[in-house]
This record gives sequence, C-alpha cells and structure tokens, in this order.
Amino acid sequence: MIARQIADAVNQDRLLESIDTLATFGARDDGGVDRPALGERDIEARRFLIERARALGCGVHVDACANLFFRREGDAALAPVMTGSHIDTQPTGGKLDGCYGVLAGFEVLAAMNDANVRTRRPLEVAIWTNEEGTRFSPGAMGSSAFVEPSRMARYADVRDSEGMTLSAALDHHRSAFPGLPQRAQHEVAHAFVELHIEQGPQLEDADVPLAVVSGIQGVRWYALHVQGSAAHAGTTPMPLRRDAMTLAIALRQELDAIAHELGRADTRVTFGRWSIEPNSINTIPSAVSFTIDFRHPEASVLAAFDEHAHAIVQRHGARIEALFTHAPVAFDASVLSCIDGACRALDARALHLTSGAFHDAMYLATHCPSGMIFVPSIDGISHNPAEATDAGHLALGARVLAHCLTTLCND
Ligand SMILES: [Zn+2]
Repeated sequence: MIARQIADAVNQDRLLESIDTLATFGARDDGGVDRPALGERDIEARRFLIERARALGCGVHVDACANLFFRREGDAALAPVMTGSHIDTQPTGGKLDGCYGVLAGFEVLAAMNDANVRTRRPLEVAIWTNEEGTRFSPGAMGSSAFVEPSRMARYADVRDSEGMTLSAALDHHRSAFPGLPQRAQHEVAHAFVELHIEQGPQLEDADVPLAVVSGIQGVRWYALHVQGSAAHAGTTPMPLRRDAMTLAIALRQELDAIAHELGRADTRVTFGRWSIEPNSINTIPSAVSFTIDFRHPEASVLAAFDEHAHAIVQRHGARIEALFTHAPVAFDASVLSCIDGACRALDARALHLTSGAFHDAMYLATHCPSGMIFVPSIDGISHNPAEATDAGHLALGARVLAHCLTTLCND
C-alpha cells in the first residue's frame, strides 16, 4: 500500500528539527514565539520555508493575501489535494499552534520524495496569512480571502496598532519575494486536511492520541447596554436607585442560566468585557455595557439562544446588539472517513471531537471537501510559551496526515 509506505517514511527527528528551526524566527526568551503576520520575523520564516520547499522540488505560488502554496506535482492534470495551516503566532505564542500543521505538511512532501512516489494528483502545502488576527483583524484573513477573494476589498484598509494598512504590509511582502508566480485562482482543490494541536484538554483526559475533528462549533457575539441613573452613593435610599450594575448582573444571571439550559454540556458562554459609567467608587452606576460570547456545535441551539436573549433583554428594558455570528461547520463525511481509515490502518486510536476554536479549515470547508485532525496538547495549554505536545504524538499525527493525503492524492 502506497499510503502506508509514505506514512512509514515520515521521519520524527526531521519533523521535530523543523519545528525547532521555525521557532527560532521570533523566538522569545521564555521558549515561546512572537511572530506577527507579515512582520519581519514572519517574512524571514517564510523565506526559510520557501527555500526548504524548493529544495524538496516544489513549486512556490502566492495569492492576493500573501497565502503561500508549495506544490508537489502529480501525474495527472487534476485538482490538487491541500493541507497546511498558519505560521503567525499570538504575542505569547508557542511553537506548535499552526506551525505544526504546516511543518507536518512539509514532512509529508519529504516522505513522498524519500519513498520515491509520484501521486496522481498534486499535493499543495499552504501557509494561510494572519490566522491569529492579532496584527490585523479579523483572524483567518488569508483563508477567508482565498475562498472568497472579494473580501480583500474590505481587508485592504485594515490597520495594525502602528497604523500600517494590510495593503502596505502586502506590498512589503511582494517586495521581499519579487517574482513569485500567482496561484491559479480558479483552481478548486480536491480536498483540504488541516492537522493542528487540540489547544484543549479533551484528548489528554481521554488518553487518546488523535482526534478526527467532525466540525467547528458556531458562535454568536453580542453587546448588551443597560441604562440606569447616576446618583450619590451616600444619600440615595436603596428603593429609589436605578442602578445599572444591579440590572446588568440580573441579566447576566438569566442569560447564563438559559445558555446552560439550552446547550447543556456543550455550552460555552463568556461575559468577557465590561464597561461601567461613571466607574466611580461613590456614584451609582448610570450605564453598563457587557459582551456575550456564546458557542455551540448546533445551529438550532444558537438560534434558540438568540431568541431567548432578545426576549430577556427586552423584558428588562435593556438593549442588545449582535456583533458577530458564525454558523457551526460540519466537515465533509468522505474526508473524515479517509482520516478514520488512516487511523485504523496505522493502528492509532482516535476520538471524534468538535473543535472549540476557529481554524483556517472553517473557511476551506466552503471551498472543497475538508476535515481536520488534532493531536493532544499537554495540560490543554495553548497561546502560551509552555504549549507542548508529546513527540510521539506529533509524529503519529504527521503519519496519519501522510496516509490520508496520499489516499486522497490517488483518488
Ligand atoms: Zn492555530
């Protein structure tokens, strides 16, 4: 079996070495990585990967959002199979978030070379620009622009904290890599598989080395505005007060209860940002605003929460503002069964999980049949210099990726 042959050609030492080398671009003193999208350190990291891809015999292409594509040609003029992730990090990021998926893709390219195998379809490893959304907002910019190029018109003028626009950062990227050919925009991929660290504790808790990720939960963001009346904290009798904070806390309690009632164990609800006016020790709060981040894998639960939240807020005479919404994503059944098949072939136990975090695959799923694989995160830690995964788990994830990509490439 060719898929098995490629999986067995995955080299753990080479994979670990590449993870450590990429982590030197933007290395922090505490062992983490700080590499903002399209900054100097990102450009140098990209230069390193472009050289590595060329040494592996791959073609290098770019698109309008500086997504990079490293392509190993196949035998036939067929749509490519894609893998990859991102290499930008949080300011206090680790070595693995995103990078692992890209470098495991490189390891598959190298394993195919070592096994001297030519697949039917081409294989492309992608680097998606600005997934973290830390430098330019929103996140997953590159992958969302890839699947819907018209988004670039909106993204071009987005500024980072220093006032630099995305389009200026893209100009800088173009001048750093002059003459990179554009990827053929019309070329729809045959399938996309993203390998990523879990960034949560479920796999470790279950003592299972892999997850086949069946989808990504949906999210709704809201801002709530509660109006009261400022008055003297010492002289205003309690029954006469219109305290915005008292009402806001009652609202929070009701919304929290309904979120748990509707979503049960899968509910993730967070009231993360609060602002209070006048925010003074001896004045009754006159206005309170706070946010809700509600997430759930089922669209019907998200919709029911939306309805209840509006009703509750209206009953209390407050105001609710919808800020952002993203529907749950269900990955493609045939890609998931290909990943399941790879796990079985390699005797690797796997759970089926829904991802709590967003990933580039969320957008790729609207472009072509897509799926994801997770490996465990030690103590569930991510977006942190201490982010780590057992070396054996990193290698196993890359082997499953190799098996699955080879199968898809010979479809
Ligand atoms: Zn990531």
